[in-house]
Amino acid sequence: MKKDKYFFECTNCGKTYPAENFIYLCPKCEKENVPNQPPKGVLKILYNYKKVKTRYKRDKLFDKLKAKEYRFLLPIKFENSLSFLKIGKTPLYDVSNLPFMQNQNFSLFLKDDSQNPTFSFKDRASDLVCAFAKENGIKKIVTASTGNAGSSLAGICAAENLEAIVFAPKSAPKAKLTQILMYAAKLITVDGNYDKAFDLSIEATKKHGWFNRNTAYNPLTIEGKKIVSFEIFQQLNQQIPENIFVPVGDGCIISGVYKGFEDLLKLGIIQKIPTIIAVQSAKSDNLIRNLKNNKFTSNKSETIADSIAVDIPRNFWMTKQFIEKYDGKTVLVTDDEILKASKQLSENSGLFTEPAAATAFAGFQKFQQSRHVAENSKNIVLLTGSGLKDLASVQNIIEVPQPIKKLEEIKL
Ligand SMILES: *Cc1c(COP(=O)(O)O)cnc(C)c1O
Repeated sequence: MKKDKYFFECTNCGKTYPAENFIYLCPKCEKENVPNQPPKGVLKILYNYKKVKTRYKRDKLFDKLKAKEYRFLLPIKFENSLSFLKIGKTPLYDVSNLPFMQNQNFSLFLKDDSQNPTFSFKDRASDLVCAFAKENGIKKIVTASTGNAGSSLAGICAAENLEAIVFAPKSAPKAKLTQILMYAAKLITVDGNYDKAFDLSIEATKKHGWFNRNTAYNPLTIEGKKIVSFEIFQQLNQQIPENIFVPVGDGCIISGVYKGFEDLLKLGIIQKIPTIIAVQSAKSDNLIRNLKNNKFTSNKSETIADSIAVDIPRNFWMTKQFIEKYDGKTVLVTDDEILKASKQLSENSGLFTEPAAATAFAGFQKFQQSRHVAENSKNIVLLTGSGLKDLASVQNIIEVPQPIKKLEEIKL
């Protein structure tokens, strides 16, 4: 790889580091990190945008996006280092004409990332991390996970003949733990929450030298996630939407969405970043609640949306910067609203998502109810994971009917 294709930049101190030596956090800021505070020193991967622009004229850049050839904006050498599994390239459904959208004067699109091979958005990051590992002779990859990052890494590693080691809270939904074991990853359940799993996985990386996939630690993950923005731009016929609703836990997915559009902005392909709306559960609002505070304080998260239940948002600083720079918005929804949104989405669109993903839809509904959605605007809700991953959460809003023996017993 040409040495100057990309480099690392620290989110907090702005110091840059060459790509030759792969690093996780900014060595300078990492030293100042303290427990129970979001870590500083998360790195962004930046490219030589000027050089890309001279190399490829504007038309050529559009052609590349159209052909889904993103290598020139990814920290890998070869496109085919990415998995043979179909990762990303998920549908963007225009549901503006469905009955539940009647009388609305704007458009609604659902980006269905539950259609990834392990049924969540996380495959986008796992794919890039695995591609990088293959190109660099790395065999073992470790991650901490509330469930989806782990099942994703396990699945992609199974496909790519790599070894996955997953630290997950023992309370993670059964389906996610089942996936990890079915893909034959090494599962280490942790007596504690995600934050505990995170710390242990980093200790393991330091002790055993395993490559670490943790988000807001390994800068590659954001680069995998940003591809969703390239897809959205392409699927809207090379236009940007007005609003994108994103469920937020650690703040890595939302930063990935921002980063994708920011790359396009820097290349002059778009003129403006869409309004991105961060949606959290009121029972796990540690990122949103702290955006305007001088001192970060953490509340114990108790939401049913396990994928976004986070006490210390690991990518807090990068997310805060993006939201402030590009005038992002925030919405909090209750767990009740999340469950209702999940049901409404399923019955109106045929898309059954896990609570974390339904959170984004609940955020959209709230935004719309408070008349914040402009006329003729294009709105996208990012659906990040499948409903089959967490059946327990929705059990009390449905009821399996009593079995019958005769037709007469059916109540119509
Ligand atoms: C991980 C995840 C999120 C939240 O992503 P963050 O990067 O933690 O903000 C949302 N939905 C699903 C389904 C996830 O797996």
